Amino acid sequence: MLGDYVWMKPEKKGQFDVAIGAQVVKIAADKLSVVDDEGKWQSVALSRILKVMNSTSIEGMDDMISLGELDEASILRNLFIRYKNKLIYTYTGSILVAVNPYQCLPIYTAERIKLYQDRNLGELPPHIFAIADNCYTHMRRDGQDQCIVISGESGAGKTENTKLTLQYLAAISGRHSQIEQQVLAANPILEAFGNAKTIRNDNSSRFGKYTEIHFNPDGAIVGAQIKQYLLEKSRIVSQANEERSFHIFYSLLDGLDAGDKQRLDLVDASSYKYLTEGSTAKYDGRDDRPNFSDIRSAMKELVFSDSEISDILKVLAVILHMGNIEMEAHTIDHLDATQIPNMTHVERIGKLVDLEPAAIVKGITTKTIIIQNEPTVSNLAYRDAVDVRDALAKGIYARLFVWIVGKINSAIIQPEAGSCSLIGLLDIFGFENFDHNSFEQLCINFANETLHQFFFHHIFKLEQEEYDAEGIEWNHIDFVDNQDCLDLIGKKPMNIMSLMDEECMMPKGTDQTLLAKFNTAYSKDKSYLKPTRHKTNSFGIAHFAGEVYYDVQGFCEKNCDTFSISLIQLIELSGNKFLRNLFQADIIRISQNNKRSPSISVQFRTSLESLMKTLSLCQPFFVRCIKPNEQKKSMLFVRGLCCRQLKYLGMMETARIRQAGYPIRHAFQEFVGRYWCLSGLIPPSKNEDKHERARQICENVLGSSGDYQLGTCKVFLKIAGDLHLEQERNRIL
Ligand code: ADP
Ligand code: MG
Repeated sequence: MLGDYVWMKPEKKGQFDVAIGAQVVKIAADKLSVVDDEGKWQSVALSRILKVMNSTSIEGMDDMISLGELDEASILRNLFIRYKNKLIYTYTGSILVAVNPYQCLPIYTAERIKLYQDRNLGELPPHIFAIADNCYTHMRRDGQDQCIVISGESGAGKTENTKLTLQYLAAISGRHSQIEQQVLAANPILEAFGNAKTIRNDNSSRFGKYTEIHFNPDGAIVGAQIKQYLLEKSRIVSQANEERSFHIFYSLLDGLDAGDKQRLDLVDASSYKYLTEGSTAKYDGRDDRPNFSDIRSAMKELVFSDSEISDILKVLAVILHMGNIEMEAHTIDHLDATQIPNMTHVERIGKLVDLEPAAIVKGITTKTIIIQNEPTVSNLAYRDAVDVRDALAKGIYARLFVWIVGKINSAIIQPEAGSCSLIGLLDIFGFENFDHNSFEQLCINFANETLHQFFFHHIFKLEQEEYDAEGIEWNHIDFVDNQDCLDLIGKKPMNIMSLMDEECMMPKGTDQTLLAKFNTAYSKDKSYLKPTRHKTNSFGIAHFAGEVYYDVQGFCEKNCDTFSISLIQLIELSGNKFLRNLFQADIIRISQNNKRSPSISVQFRTSLESLMKTLSLCQPFFVRCIKPNEQKKSMLFVRGLCCRQLKYLGMMETARIRQAGYPIRHAFQEFVGRYWCLSGLIPPSKNEDKHERARQICENVLGSSGDYQLGTCKVFLKIAGDLHLEQERNRIL
């Protein structure tokens, strides 16, 4: 009918073929004129029209669960319609979907904070504050720990929503205490040291973060703890085009006064090799570099002493100078070796951390191996020497980051443990599938696989609860989760991660022998994909979010993360206690006869397991962040891009689980309004029992087909039942 909203098959068949909404504006014999959701006028054949849109889908709903038809198309359209109206938050039950607005919306004011206080979820429009408030209320009411898992791809808004949650919690629990200020001050420091400009996000977190806020029985913040995961330390020595190193370096060079700068022998960012790899030391556009003086005051707030701050600056300067050490290949006795023609930077480093320049040269151009209990020194070829220098810079920064997190934690920890409850906030990198994927992506995707299972079990439970609430019998539905994939990567005996660890122990283990082992061990595993003709050096994994191929090159080295003995010995020689302290664990390890440190994958798996254990003890809330376009533009919603994210964030699973039961639902009133003609010719009166009339309609049309069930407020229909009703209605009208 004219003016009706309909679902229309997408124009082109392709990877992205989700139906689009449209409004009928003209009707001809075999053609319709429509305006689709993107505002396009089209004249389409009737065969492209799929069905009339459910009334709930037309204007959009606050909660996806209230959509009468819950499938990919309706989920996507609901977000789109709302986004166009600057409604960036939408619920799916208690799950919050947040679409990045890429503009400042006036929805985070102090009044809003007040407004959302002590309200039930769903009472007010969807909002991150509502989730935060619910967490807080539940925690206080039930004394149960809560957590909010915030996920999404880079640039989707995870960190912003985490910060908003934290601000909300600080505001409503507000005692304006020092500890509250300290908890808030942790963020600028972590962002300075752990965030960087990337192509995807000008303020991209290059580490995962789990923040626990501790509350006393009166609901006041009494402390917090932060755990960090997998800092991307390779960024220290190289950055992709148009990307930068961690913010702190630029803030430092920008904000230090002349005297300090001279003492550290520093000039401006464009002079450092480690800062100019991506050739954007300075970049146009919004400058969200944290201000150095703010970072410094945050550090003061968190009781970093002056000497600690000064040591941190020295260590950062050392890293910058290190990148500028030039090296040349040469030969000694016909063997490859490396020399350093210009000692300026080596001397600067020596001065900063009290090291003999000769020792530094030895440390980065030679290696010491133990042969029959005797240390033997040999020269490094040019490429190896560069790698050693870079490893040193990365190693120092990674340990500095760990130290800083530890320092922050020691300032904000709640000393008298016991009687407090907590809210945990997880802001962790989403699923990654780049043109080139490596060890880091495997770890990240394993974490996402684990979190996905956690999420999946949660929504499955929610669905069950809806059936229970309506008194619907819902026979157990067989559902495949991603356990196989988890088993393959890190759970079953002889999993990918354990084979990697084994290979690290082998004297002759290489990336190639590792790949060969994978191919043999998993030849029958459905989640494992063998190397292809185009990707001979890669293996693939069928993740829940799609297939990803991982290039094995560098796997062994990255996993073992060995920091050579020579370098540790070099650090030991430093007169700078702070620097030596960063390496304390390594120094102890070496003194205890070379014991290897646990591999990166073991460390990561252990911390992930402990995280999951923590989360499983909490009542979870989920926030799924969506990036609507790649250009960081406001008011631009790219359907294909959003659909892909909704899929791998598991939002489409809600639809899938629903499809497996009774996907179509109508409130009795609405159902009777549409189908009353199927129960005789008397229209329903105002006071008539709609439940009874709905039952008559269903019995008349669907009989004992099992395609429907009546709940306490709604009719639950299978797709077949819905179709049948529509056909009958069309026949009669
Ligand atoms: P992620 O942590 O998921 O990588 P961020 O939280 O850093 O992404 O968000 C990227 C950018 O998007 C932010 O720097 C900000 O400019 C913008 N942004 C994200 N969420 C919001 C929001 N709710 N309101 C306004 N801008 C936002
Ligand atoms: Mg982030």
